[in-house]
Amino acid sequence: SIPLSFFGGIGGASKIGVLVKGSNYLEALANTEVVVFDKTGTLTKGSFAVSEIHPVGMKEAQLLELAAYAEDYSNHPISLSIKNAYGQKIDNSRVSDVQEIAGHGVQAVIDGKTILAGSTKLMEKAHIKYTPSSAVGTVVYLACDGKYAGCIIIEDEIKADAPAAIKLLKSAGIRKTVMLTGDADAVGKKVAGQLHLDQVYTELLPADKVDRVESLLKQKSEKGMLAFVGDGINDAPVLARADVGIAMGGLGSDAAIEAADVVLMTDEPSKIAAVMKIARKTIRIAN
Ligand code: ADP
Ligand code: MG
Repeated sequence: SIPLSFFGGIGGASKIGVLVKGSNYLEALANTEVVVFDKTGTLTKGSFAVSEIHPVGMKEAQLLELAAYAEDYSNHPISLSIKNAYGQKIDNSRVSDVQEIAGHGVQAVIDGKTILAGSTKLMEKAHIKYTPSSAVGTVVYLACDGKYAGCIIIEDEIKADAPAAIKLLKSAGIRKTVMLTGDADAVGKKVAGQLHLDQVYTELLPADKVDRVESLLKQKSEKGMLAFVGDGINDAPVLARADVGIAMGGLGSDAAIEAADVVLMTDEPSKIAAVMKIARKTIRIAN
C-alpha cells in the first residue's frame, strides 16, 4: 500500500506548480544524484529573437521569407523565432513536401524551389558549400535549390531562473549536472560555462542524446537516480529513458508532457530542486 504521506508529497508538489505522476517518482526524485538538461527551451528561453540576417544572392527580406515558409510546419523554438521575426501570414499554397529532419532542421518546397534551413550538419548532409558563421548564437543556414543562400542568427538567452536552478541543485547535494545539446559546440560550451555545469556534450542528434544518457546511467551508483529535463522537442526518447523524465509543461510539446514522469507547469528549472526537497521530506516521513 502507498503511505498516506506520499499523497501529501504529490499535493505539495502541485502547490508549487509541479505535476508528479506517481509516488514512485517521488522516491526517484528523492534519490536523484545526476541531473541532465537539454539546452534549447529548457535552460535557455524558447522564444528568442532574430538578431542578424546574412543573405547570399538575395535581399534580407527574401531570405527571412524563405526561412519562415520552410519553418511553417515546425514547432521547434528556432522555427517560432523565425516566424515571429517574419511577422506575416504564410500562404500555405506556396509550400509543399515539408520534411522536418530531427536535430538537423527542415526541408520544404516553396514556389517550386527546394529550401533547406538548419544546422551545419544539414548543409553537409546535402553537400552545400556554406560559409561557417563565427557568431556565438544559434545559426540557421539556408540553401535554395542546392545553393547556399545565407544564414540567420538567433540570439538565445539563458532563462532568468537557470543559474539559481543549478546552484540549488548543487547545494541539495546533486553530484553531477550535465547538458546535452544538438546545437553548435561554441554555443553549448558558452551556456554550460555561464551556468557552471559539470559536463557538456554538443552537436548531438536525438539518438546520440539517448546514447549519452545510457552511458551516464552506467556511471552512477546503483541507488542513485538520473533525471533528464527537456522540452520534448527532439528529446522525447531521452525523457522516456531516464529514471525520472522531467518536462517543461508550458513550452513543451504534448509528446513531452505525455512521455514525462514529472511536469514543470511554470517552465522554471529551479522548481526541480524545490520538488526534490519535497520528495526527500515525504520519503523521510514515510519511512
Ligand atoms: P537542443 O538539443 O539544443 O534542444 P535540438 O536537438 O532541438 O537542439 O536541435 C539541434 C540543432 O538542429 C539546432 O541547434 C539547429 O541547428 C537544428 N535544428 C533543429 N530543428 C530546427 C528547425 N526547425 N529549424 C532550423 N534548425 C533546426
Ligand atoms: Mg530542445
